[in-house]
Amino acid sequence: MFDLIIRNANLPDGRKGIDIGIANGKIGAIEAGISAEAGETIDATNRMVSPAFIDPHFHMDATLSLGLPRMNVSGTLLEGIALWGELRPLLTKEALIERALAYCDYAVSQGLLFIRSHVDTSDPRLVTVEAMLEVKERVAPYIDLQLVAFPQDGYYRAKDGVKSLERALDMGVDVVGGIPHFERTMQDGAASVEALCRIAAERGLPVDMHCDETDDPMSRHIETLAAETIRFGLQGRVAGSHLTSMHSMDNYYVSKLIPLMAEAEINVIPNPLINIMLQGRHDTYPKRRGMTRVRELMAAGLNVSFGQDCCMDPWYSMGSGDMLEVAHMAVHVGQLSGVEDKQRVFEAITTNSAKTLGLKDYGLTVGCNADLVILQAEDVLEAIRLKPARLAVLKGGKVISRTAPKESELSLPGRPAKIDFGRNPTSSTAE
Ligand SMILES: [Zn+2]
Repeated sequence: MFDLIIRNANLPDGRKGIDIGIANGKIGAIEAGISAEAGETIDATNRMVSPAFIDPHFHMDATLSLGLPRMNVSGTLLEGIALWGELRPLLTKEALIERALAYCDYAVSQGLLFIRSHVDTSDPRLVTVEAMLEVKERVAPYIDLQLVAFPQDGYYRAKDGVKSLERALDMGVDVVGGIPHFERTMQDGAASVEALCRIAAERGLPVDMHCDETDDPMSRHIETLAAETIRFGLQGRVAGSHLTSMHSMDNYYVSKLIPLMAEAEINVIPNPLINIMLQGRHDTYPKRRGMTRVRELMAAGLNVSFGQDCCMDPWYSMGSGDMLEVAHMAVHVGQLSGVEDKQRVFEAITTNSAKTLGLKDYGLTVGCNADLVILQAEDVLEAIRLKPARLAVLKGGKVISRTAPKESELSLPGRPAKIDFGRNPTSSTAE
């Protein structure tokens, strides 16, 4: 006897017509033709059921602040940082919480139930940290929110940056952040990586740094991050976010760097929407794409997961809480158009991110939490292509969001009256 059975589900690994039996919030069976009874049944009608999406890199303290106190006129990364500096003294805990909760509503509707958010620790008031810790508690019934202590203005460069980051960790922030390429000098950047890895080792915390988010091919803090990871025994617990300078690095140097990163088991987090938008701004033509070397890193066995980074904030006026939009951009920027690539890209917004965040019981096997999304799509390719409606989002086996399927009614001579956008037009199972 199950509480709920989802019948006729297609799965991201290509299996079709599978039933998922859920009891006590967990997957109790996942196979074709479950004969047991259930309190409730959902017929997925051969739509795809995925584990809920994960965003491994976000800024929840800045989200939905677009236009406050003014717009980013140039649209650049550096004006975004300056603008955030103007907004920061004006931030109140209440407004931060309100915007973050509103964003989390969007996230749930998009099937996004796990988020790692960087929280700026540069303002010694730490109102951002107080607010995000409260948000974490309030959304805990439906979103798993991890927080990273992020010294936006530099760990050494900001006044009291060192003290403020330590205080944020004392207050209960989960992960040690950093921004070595924004320190005053290369040496300061390297020193900040060493200091922050030491803190993580002492406190038993993971590390996730904004690292080399620049087009400068000589920005090589990822090398230091990998080396310090090994020195402090932090293998598998360290993430390098962005790593855009790798796009521009010398190929010979990268041939030495990638094996070092693999040895350190660095989790790589490119942010395709933001990287394609903000990098390459000093180029004329040809213009660099500015995303790190995703295909090469994956081929070397590194764990790569894609983040959204921003949604309607000083750096990015767009964004919608949709990890399939992130995946769609990754396919284009990374030229990940091969048959196998779609699978890798989908893993990069689901299972790979679960590994980056250290999530337990995530996925589609017996014993995993029933945190699921039913998509108006039949397979992975269609999910990424269409960014379709999230027909139902389940947390612990309970439906917490429903969206009506998208369809169009046509009035065309000799043509069907409707298009159902969730059916693969080239698939033999299409009606
Ligand atoms: Zn970021």
